[in-house]
Amino acid sequence: MMFRENFEKKVRDTIKKYGLCSKKDKIIVACSGGKDSTTVLYLLKKFGYDAEALIIDLLIGKWSEKNLKNLKGFCGEHNIKLNVVNMREEIGYSVCYIRSGIQAKTKFSNCMICGVIKRWILNKKARELKADKLATGHNLDDESENILMNTFKGNPELGINLGPKTGIVMDKKFVQRIKPLYFCSNKEIMKYSKSMKFPVLYEPCPCSVSTFRRNIRERISEIEKISPRIKLNIVNNFLRVLPVLRNQYKSNTKLRYCDYCGEPCRKEVCKKCELIKILLR
Ligand code: SF4
Ligand SMILES: [Zn+2]
Repeated sequence: MMFRENFEKKVRDTIKKYGLCSKKDKIIVACSGGKDSTTVLYLLKKFGYDAEALIIDLLIGKWSEKNLKNLKGFCGEHNIKLNVVNMREEIGYSVCYIRSGIQAKTKFSNCMICGVIKRWILNKKARELKADKLATGHNLDDESENILMNTFKGNPELGINLGPKTGIVMDKKFVQRIKPLYFCSNKEIMKYSKSMKFPVLYEPCPCSVSTFRRNIRERISEIEKISPRIKLNIVNNFLRVLPVLRNQYKSNTKLRYCDYCGEPCRKEVCKKCELIKILLR
């Protein structure tokens, strides 16, 4: 009982401290059917926010079918509005088709391709649903891995979009993304979700094969054995330098609209349209 209360307090405190959302906001929760996003959805509702669920049916076989079924049941039980986007209807192809087509011509990873397309759909749909905020299930493990991955790539500019909320550039076509589970570890969320008996799959996506991320995750876990606060330290250290980073790269981050789809992006063509161009070439 105590664990659940502490966990919920941590999420509530993160929302408050970083001003992630207010009771006036309409929040769309980007759901996968997994433990993280289901926990975000449940807690935002529990805390009295105006939250709806949005899931992209990625059409990854049985895994997608089970996730969709679970989320439909969960939203029905908790009286939450569920918005479903079908990948093929939205983009014209399933994620597996796009991936295999692009990977025949490039070395892009599964998650890189899938992530670009998901972000494009989520922003567009959240805006169409008139959302003020787009909440995701990103947690402490994800963020500490992202920070180290960017560091090892030697590109500090990649970090400007991290943090508990996006917001270096405000644009009417861009819905601000928030991460209420920013300080919650994977283990804590797993424990919370299991104790709440959420109907979620605990097995990872069958297409997640990013060796770089897996390597980083394994290294962090090794260090965690001798330094249990390592993830928190990585994230807190990053948050101290984030304002400096954002300031430094502010002039590079002007948004414009994609020549093909009109969605907000940084170059003439957005990353999603770049991928589709590769697929069709
Ligand atoms: S793990 Fe990778 S491939 Fe699977 S849904 Fe997430 S981003 Fe897409
Ligand atoms: Zn585009």
